[in-house]
Amino acid sequence: MPMDLGDTSKHDQQAAWQPVTTPVLLGVLLFSALALWFGNHGQRWFPVLDGANLLFHEFGHPFVGLFSAQLMVYGGTLGQLIFPVAAAVQFKRTGATGSFAICCVWLMQNLFNIARYMADARAQLLPLVGGGEHDWTEILSRWGWLQADTRLAAELTALGWLGIGTCCIWLFKRWRLDRTAI
Ligand SMILES: [Zn+2]
Repeated sequence: MPMDLGDTSKHDQQAAWQPVTTPVLLGVLLFSALALWFGNHGQRWFPVLDGANLLFHEFGHPFVGLFSAQLMVYGGTLGQLIFPVAAAVQFKRTGATGSFAICCVWLMQNLFNIARYMADARAQLLPLVGGGEHDWTEILSRWGWLQADTRLAAELTALGWLGIGTCCIWLFKRWRLDRTAI
């Protein structure tokens, strides 16, 4: 009996993935292409979306600051990652395949946004909200990695490409699976 109960709760946590329609696949691919384009060209800024990311970033600082002044500087980056992660976890639970993929791409797109800021740690050319301290100058200085700012940012960007590519391949595979399944 306890085993049955255990099985039931396991099923409740993860619903089966919903079928992927072609418009959903194309929509996620388009969103991914835009994320790659905006994240790697010009100002490296995805209109509207990076505005939202910045909002979550600015929310993250004081929130983490409630618990630790020392860790407050990490709160911004944490803030902009936690929202797509929380949304992705929720969509995974309900088996909402397309929405889950969108959130994963959004999470990876955030890495471009973070890399843009990280690469600026020594140069400090980016305008800062409220003109406060530069997060990545502070973080990388603490770790003794300030000289590696652009290299670390390039690695983070590569991770973003890899992550978005993986999301697209995963969704494409699910889309194909739905078409071959009888
Ligand atoms: Zn910040």
